[in-house]
Amino acid sequence: MSAERKKLELQLDNLIRRIVNKRDKDCVLCGDRNLLGVSHFVKRDKKAYRWDLRNCHLMCGKCHEEWEKNENEKYYEYMVYHYGPDVPIDLHRGSRHPVKISEEELKIMKIELELQMEQIDD
Ligand SMILES: [Zn+2]
Repeated sequence: MSAERKKLELQLDNLIRRIVNKRDKDCVLCGDRNLLGVSHFVKRDKKAYRWDLRNCHLMCGKCHEEWEKNENEKYYEYMVYHYGPDVPIDLHRGSRHPVKISEEELKIMKIELELQMEQIDD
């Protein structure tokens, strides 16, 4: 991976963390604030969705760990209640067709997330 690409990916991860923290404020599944971190509905190694805000939500340590162990059905419920069934289905369908994200696409994603960050700023 090129240094430029690595830098962009780190910047995108940081932007996602900041936006999701501001947007969600506490665990989307249980409301707890303990060991908050970003959880990905479709695993973050699927880079097409790693920086998609519909795929990223704030979770406490306990809910995140349960989700990682496939023991948390609540995330499915959250996704369907929050977005309707199409979004979580699309995310899963898309994740079965791995795509290579170019550096140009990463730059575009970064600009888009920076705009989102400004809009969510109060
Ligand atoms: Zn929780």
